[in-house]
Amino acid sequence: MPRYRGRFAPSPTGRLHFGSLVTSLASRVDALAHGGEWQVRIDDLDQTRCRPGLEDDILRNLEAFGMHWDGALRYQNRTTAAYARALNELQMQDKVYFCRCSRKTVREQTRREGVEGPIYAGTCRNLELADVPEHAARLRTDDKPLGFIDRVFGPQIQRLASTIGDFVVRRADGYFAYQLAVVVDDAMAGITHVVRGADLLTSTPRQIRLQRLLGMATPVYLHVPLVRDRNGHKLSKREAALPVDEQHPLTSLLAAWRWLGQPMPDGDLSLEEFWQWAPTAWQIECMRKLRDDTTSGAL
Ligand code: GLU
Repeated sequence: MPRYRGRFAPSPTGRLHFGSLVTSLASRVDALAHGGEWQVRIDDLDQTRCRPGLEDDILRNLEAFGMHWDGALRYQNRTTAAYARALNELQMQDKVYFCRCSRKTVREQTRREGVEGPIYAGTCRNLELADVPEHAARLRTDDKPLGFIDRVFGPQIQRLASTIGDFVVRRADGYFAYQLAVVVDDAMAGITHVVRGADLLTSTPRQIRLQRLLGMATPVYLHVPLVRDRNGHKLSKREAALPVDEQHPLTSLLAAWRWLGQPMPDGDLSLEEFWQWAPTAWQIECMRKLRDDTTSGAL
């Protein structure tokens, strides 16, 4: 097992944009600063949302930015058998039940809003519905506090039952849910450190719960404060979706570096020099200052 193995896991649902450049930069620099490995995984699980050609586009962009990955590329879509095994394991522990509620039913029957929308009222919890493709699989949650220490956001505690509710691990359309897939993939790849956007901060306790149930190690987490515009708003889909300029990689990289609150280099650097210099200049503390401007982390 390596001391540090990180990863960047883009979903090929849109082009690499400024927000994802910031995240990929943080994750690669952090790996280099630790003398670690850095992998790339294509999160193409939900084929209905993936757009053909985008994956090549993203990989070409990463190369143009000097973000060369270690080892082979990984693809979520090739590991569905492992997700099925994990689901089976959860079923054996009686942690999963099947659910026929539509999104609309969930919304109508909920008794409270959680951090990510209506909390499932548990309508199907005790119905013992069959494991058939049109039923979603949900994980039974409890309300014990689940904590972890984020390297930027500090100590985080979440009670799953009262803030998230029983959550979906396999969707009613047959696709495994992101929460389960990411846990299995990170474990299979031996990922020790996860650096990703703070929009996923509230997902982490669910993933830790799954890791514990499946006997998998929990990586160290760093959530990167979200990219905001000049007025402090999270970049809109339209703005954030502005493709990065691979013709001028250094200009975009330095803009992303500035977003991360990092000290700027003294003189002009080539792309190669940037990648030699950045890991030596990398300061997590600078990101802690950015953190206070984000509103994403209300666990
Ligand atoms: N594929 C996810 C995304 O693009 C990231 C998953 C992760 O880093 O855990 O938002």
